[in-house]
Amino acid sequence: MKKIITALAIVAVTLICQAASDMLKVNSKNPFEMRMYEQKFTVEYPSKEAAEAARLKIQPLLDGKKFAFSARWDDCRLLNVKMRDIMAKYACKGTFYLNSKTRKYAARFDANYAKEMTKKGCSVGAHSMSHPKLPNIPRSEAFYEILAIRPERESDTDKPINSFAFPWGMFKDKKDPTAQFDIAEYTIRSGLHHTTYPWFISKSKKIGLNNKIFSSVRPVNAQKGLKFEKADKKLQVYMKSRFTKAQPCLTLATHANHGAKDWIELEKILEKYSKNPEWWYCNQTDYAAYRYQFHYSKIINKHLSGNKVTYTIRRPHPADLGGDVPLTISTTSSKKVSGAILKKVNGKNFIELAHKSDKRVPEKIDYISNMKNSNSTEVFSKKFPGVKLFINYNQASNSIKLTAENKSDKKVSGIYSKLILPPAYAKRDEIVKIKTLEPKSKKSITVKLPARSSDKKYSDGKQYFALITDFNYGKTAGRIWSDTMQ
Ligand SMILES: [Zn+2]
Repeated sequence: MKKIITALAIVAVTLICQAASDMLKVNSKNPFEMRMYEQKFTVEYPSKEAAEAARLKIQPLLDGKKFAFSARWDDCRLLNVKMRDIMAKYACKGTFYLNSKTRKYAARFDANYAKEMTKKGCSVGAHSMSHPKLPNIPRSEAFYEILAIRPERESDTDKPINSFAFPWGMFKDKKDPTAQFDIAEYTIRSGLHHTTYPWFISKSKKIGLNNKIFSSVRPVNAQKGLKFEKADKKLQVYMKSRFTKAQPCLTLATHANHGAKDWIELEKILEKYSKNPEWWYCNQTDYAAYRYQFHYSKIINKHLSGNKVTYTIRRPHPADLGGDVPLTISTTSSKKVSGAILKKVNGKNFIELAHKSDKRVPEKIDYISNMKNSNSTEVFSKKFPGVKLFINYNQASNSIKLTAENKSDKKVSGIYSKLILPPAYAKRDEIVKIKTLEPKSKKSITVKLPARSSDKKYSDGKQYFALITDFNYGKTAGRIWSDTMQ
């Protein structure tokens, strides 16, 4: 009997271990392992007692608003420009999920087009390089499709990208239960912490996904064939739904493919739902940047002095969030704040905490690809003259060689450099230790890679490596993407 129990216990433990290994490995306090930093601010209360009793609460949305209202429009389409303008007429914003301009017939959707899509409060999101069915292509390709669109479109627009729309809305394969797990893993590696598909998260607890890892939306069909009455009804349902609390972003979707009648219906929705003072009208990028800091910012210390309290908050870096939207914190009856702004919104007092002035989102983003330039001696950044960050894969030594050079007379300082690893490696990334590049200096760094997976599913195919490097170039906050294919 004892033997049977022991055997059963072993089976049970094995099963639990197996289940655990199928769960995404994320740090529950910071799933995307973003850089965190500490910031102080002081609040003055009416009395010592009020200071002692004071409580702070980080708000789920900017300015303590009730809902975010946004839009997501997929693919490189000419009508996206009209969509942006119509939304702007109602002070509404959204995000355009673009593919690569190198895609067949897509040359007209070049860098200038991408830049257009970031105007009037809108932003650009990632929609893969070539719009494949991600679960049905080899893992090495799926990884490349998810990540490589970031360097391209970020350098086109000089703005970070933090969100992803799965092409064809596909991330699952009935015949291959590991597909969604792997796609989620590659989306995490790629730093894309927001998805326009809420069902990517909602039915995926088994693999460890939840509403705090990825932010998402409540989508309302507003494309060709839309009817105001139907959309209106859906919005009313969402406003009362519990799930909206977890993802409070009402979002018009999916394609700007409207005919004359469709635009009229769309404007009826915008007319009714725009300009609500209790709503936050935002693009998906800012929404995602806000929600991640809402979940993972934490007051870690408070120091009382008379009627004043100095708080220390630990929060994610805006360059990793992909946006520098401030954080809204409510507090009890405060009189004055230093290190932040005291703000009255809809009759309520809020502290608006901007990011520290030296924690910045890149203003310029460049892209130096080994896949286009095989001769590393000639490749310097155009946006940061004199700077080179170039990577090569060396099969014999299983390593990545980084050549970093600064021919300019400006110092490249505050460097944060991360090598994002492809599916052949169980490890997500390697931080490259390089802090500064003095004027007229050169460094050569070899990053030894971990052992490759023995599973062909992951190690087959050409592996794509991308290095993301943030830095200050003189006074400019910059980023350079470097990449290579094995
Ligand atoms: Zn699409």
